[in-house]
Amino acid sequence: MKNAFFIILLVLISVGCKQETVPSSEEKNTTKQQHEFAIIIHGGAGTILKKNLSDEKEAAYKAKLEEAVKVGHTILKNGGTSQEAVMKTIQIMEESPLFNAGKGAVFTHEETNELDASFMDGKTLNAGAVAGVTNVKSPIELAIKVMTDSDHVMLSGKGASIFAKEKGLEIVDPSYFYTEKRFQSLQRIKNKTKTELDHNDKKAAFYDADIKNAKFGTVGCVALDKNGNIAAGTSTGGMTNKRWGRIGDAPIIGAGTYANNKTCGVSSTGWGEYFIRGMVAYDISAQMEYQNKSLKEATTDVIKNKLTKLGGTGGVIALDKNGNMSFEFNTAGMYRASMNDKDELVVKIYKE
Ligand code: ASP
Repeated sequence: MKNAFFIILLVLISVGCKQETVPSSEEKNTTKQQHEFAIIIHGGAGTILKKNLSDEKEAAYKAKLEEAVKVGHTILKNGGTSQEAVMKTIQIMEESPLFNAGKGAVFTHEETNELDASFMDGKTLNAGAVAGVTNVKSPIELAIKVMTDSDHVMLSGKGASIFAKEKGLEIVDPSYFYTEKRFQSLQRIKNKTKTELDHNDKKAAFYDADIKNAKFGTVGCVALDKNGNIAAGTSTGGMTNKRWGRIGDAPIIGAGTYANNKTCGVSSTGWGEYFIRGMVAYDISAQMEYQNKSLKEATTDVIKNKLTKLGGTGGVIALDKNGNMSFEFNTAGMYRASMNDKDELVVKIYKE
């Protein structure tokens, strides 16, 4: 009798200890709120090496990233919505020729600029996206308008421009997006594709003369506001030398952009075809929702394991409902910045 009592006692103690030392996966994902509000941005990933970036260029990128992230941070700090923070932050980068979005977008094979963007609201799971837009100054604003003012999720080409005009968005001459630097990149790629590459390289060369040296300058932003709402947005010119109306991952909800208040918000940058096949942004959210992974575990698995095995290159920024943030990329660098409710600012370009 005495022995039986001790055995039961030991079992109870061991069960008790187990529950204390190994938190259930659910507990792991309901960790306490790290930040009341936060914002994270990227300006593209790729072979960004210190030796290839002059001090002035590096300073210019860092200054623009800081300016952009602070715009969104101020909105959030003053109680503004994550939607407004994402839009205004991305617009700073769209207006800068440094990034492959808005002004400074890369050129298509036909020497035009075709812009893609998307936005998602984590509270309602509403979303809006545009593809192949040629004359709307702010594609991210248009993507948000598609969400708020139409019955649709994605509009493309001429129709998207007509919708933008009807909604009173700023229309520009396509030459607004021209930058000499991007135009010359296209010429270099075209010349190289014609002369130096053998047949096997042609697929990669189609997008970049040396895909391994590609820089993906897409911009993106994820924000968490004081009401606990997450929003994510992405804006891009796509990939240099694209043709046939090619559309990348940036306007594809679930690939380039995803947000869900239950889990996280994500914006991607990289070789879009792989991000579409991997459903990268949604996969991160799904791993958190169905496997109870932390943000860090999910982003690491999706980028370092799954995307890399598929042969894709690029990265993501992600922010969860508790204000945890993650920058994850398998390239040499990613233009990136973040800021939290304690005003702590991070601005980085290369790997640690
Ligand atoms: N993901 C973009 C695309 O494939 C490119 C980029 O990130 O710069 O269109």
